[in-house]
Amino acid sequence: MVLEVLETVLGGHDGRVLADIELVDGAVRKKRMPQRIETEVLIRCRRRCCLCYGLNRDLGIKLGQIAHLDHDPGNGNPDNLVFLCLEHHNVYDSRFRQSKGITEGEVRHFRNELLALIDYVWKQPVAINRVRVHPIGDISGRYIRDAAYENAELQIDVVAPNRARVIGFALWGTNRECGPNIGELDFEAPICDGKIVYTGKPLRGKRRYKLQLTFQQDRLIAEENAAVGYFGLNVSFAGQYVRIE
Ligand SMILES: [Zn+2]
Repeated sequence: MVLEVLETVLGGHDGRVLADIELVDGAVRKKRMPQRIETEVLIRCRRRCCLCYGLNRDLGIKLGQIAHLDHDPGNGNPDNLVFLCLEHHNVYDSRFRQSKGITEGEVRHFRNELLALIDYVWKQPVAINRVRVHPIGDISGRYIRDAAYENAELQIDVVAPNRARVIGFALWGTNRECGPNIGELDFEAPICDGKIVYTGKPLRGKRRYKLQLTFQQDRLIAEENAAVGYFGLNVSFAGQYVRIE
């Protein structure tokens, strides 16, 4: 048998990636999908079937196969590939005469829903015994700085890639009879090299307030410039915080 293996991955005219093909006795046959693409498809869905999820809210890990959305086994573009459980792969690839089969649009929609959900869920902290572990690089959470006479709290929420919303309050004089002095923060700012920098509104005759937050795993260091007079008397956000959620 003459076996001639062509290029591993061929770029089509429209930029799509074709699956491996080989020549067997002069006839073109589909070969195995490149392992790199297969791995990418399997990892992104973590072996959940998007039809099980989209139709039944079933997020169980499934035995399954990689299906081609356009039913063309030669189109190995990752966008054209989806992991489906065996049952749904059969359903998707069968041609129904009487009833409406599952459409490519439905599978694409459910795939997007599933991948968005997996992306969200895998960014949540997990608990190992009683220790909560946050995914590497994730800074979301509630941070507190506690001391006898003053305390502060910062809620950090990542709202977009490399962008966070920060809501905070700081109290000074927590034991005072007339109540503590209060400072509040609520802003959105970019995250750069593990830091968030905020510049306050300009106040007449004063230097602009500046706050820099540096994240170190479950700690946060806050440094301030020109804090005097920006919040209530003696109120400051500076110091070391510990993530509690
Ligand atoms: Zn399924």
